[in-house]
Amino acid sequence: MAHSSPALLWFRDDLRLADHPALNAALDAHGECLCVYILDSSGSTRSPGGASKWFLHETLTAFSKSVEAHGGSCLILEGDPAKLIPQLMKKAGAEKLYCHHRYQKAARDQDDAIATALEKAGSEMVRLHGTLLRAPETVTTKTGTPYKIFTAWWKGFKALGTPSKPVATPGKCALKSWDAILKDAGKALKPADTGKALLPTQPDWASKMAEYWEFGEDAAQEIAKDFAAGPLDHYGTGRNDMAAEESSRLSPYLRLGVISPRQVWHYCADKGAKEDREIYLSELGWRDFSWYTLFHNPHLPDRNLKSQFDSLGWRHSKKDLAAWQRGQTGIPVVDAGMRQLWETGWMHNRARMIVASFLAKHLLIDWREGENWFWDTLIDADPASNAVNWQWVAGTGIEASPFFRIFNPLRQTDKFDPKGDYIRRWVPELSRLPDDAIAAPWDAAPEVLEKAGVKIGKTYPRPIVSLSDGRDRAMAAYRKTRGS
Ligand code: FAD
Repeated sequence: MAHSSPALLWFRDDLRLADHPALNAALDAHGECLCVYILDSSGSTRSPGGASKWFLHETLTAFSKSVEAHGGSCLILEGDPAKLIPQLMKKAGAEKLYCHHRYQKAARDQDDAIATALEKAGSEMVRLHGTLLRAPETVTTKTGTPYKIFTAWWKGFKALGTPSKPVATPGKCALKSWDAILKDAGKALKPADTGKALLPTQPDWASKMAEYWEFGEDAAQEIAKDFAAGPLDHYGTGRNDMAAEESSRLSPYLRLGVISPRQVWHYCADKGAKEDREIYLSELGWRDFSWYTLFHNPHLPDRNLKSQFDSLGWRHSKKDLAAWQRGQTGIPVVDAGMRQLWETGWMHNRARMIVASFLAKHLLIDWREGENWFWDTLIDADPASNAVNWQWVAGTGIEASPFFRIFNPLRQTDKFDPKGDYIRRWVPELSRLPDDAIAAPWDAAPEVLEKAGVKIGKTYPRPIVSLSDGRDRAMAAYRKTRGS
């Protein structure tokens, strides 16, 4: 029996209408619901970086259109959710608020406070799981403690069976419009100017990014289906080829919940070669594991999980950091990755590992500087995956590559961009160099450089650090932490 009052549905990182347990529950219980999204300017949660804001803007625009296609409207507000939600509930005459669980400490605290306030006012906050394959607290060791290592966690995860199937989209998705309700609402409930809040102004660095991405739920579904029907079959090798676009590129959509991980899982579950499929599903597993790690270690984005590294003598070189950020290090594969990031808001996973290792090891710059830069420039910037991977590469995480494993950019280029196509695409000033000179142009013969129009130190930078010196310096710093 449906309640007579509408439900309020608070969308967060779940900007879709399909496989949305909170939406289904709200419609089942109330028959109709009102949709809201809040740009949280309360300062209680980390605000998104520039590139994420731009992708959020485009996603919200597409999402609002789908809500409108179902007869509703998505109200977008800016402010403190703890203040806005109770006001909205009152204005809408809603008794229940529906949403999905969030797993970050600050967000959980905020939700708990809102739930308590609503309860005191005689209403209720209903939270369901809807953004991960499995809720973090459900995967535990036999003694009930959290797993620390991915392989053990993955085994525990798989022992619980296949993740459940996506929930069917309600046949009649009765979404309500805010128009009549907000007719005489005060200033506080005035819809946000999302363009002003989220888009860059001067310079408009996002105009180029738009060429690389499509937006909205239908686009994400198509991308997932095409991937499952094609590249999934050779994902094991394809995912490491930096020039080929053979990974799914679903990360920005997963980040904002435009598609759910279990939708992706079930698109792929019976497709492709078994071995490749297993690798892909385990990558989706890494996304869950990252959130699991953040859930159990709230300080993951700003603290070494291995405290032994707190005494590591990081270098503070603004000049080297800026060269890395701008893709001007003089190491072609590093510069290619950083320029791909700047232009598209995304970087190939292999390149992310190479540039991160170069920053934290060869340049010996604190991984948190890199995490921050990625936070600002990635459209898929995610508090869990970003921090887990940075700590993995830097060697400071619990589940981490050992510190002494230092990616050699030249060997990585040789293996994963053997013809230099990725470098040519993103570092065009080197594009005329032959395959065997492009990874390390500083070593090329003068006549080879001249023929390709490359002048080291003029048309392309000299390496800001010698790869062997950088390696030795990192190892020396690491040895000191072991002695401390
Ligand atoms: P696919 O290869 O198609 O994988 C499918 C999905 O699995 C991805 O969309 C992603 O959701 C998940 N996934 C894959 N690899 C990982 C991984 N190593 N860790 C966690 N999830 C993974 N990913 C983010 O989503 N946000 C980040 O902020 C982020 N920061 C990173 C920082 C560093 C230093 C490194 C090394 C990796 C980072 N990653 C991050 C992980 C990974 O690089 C991206 O998820 C992946 O490149 C996205 O491309 P894709 O969708 O084509 O991936």
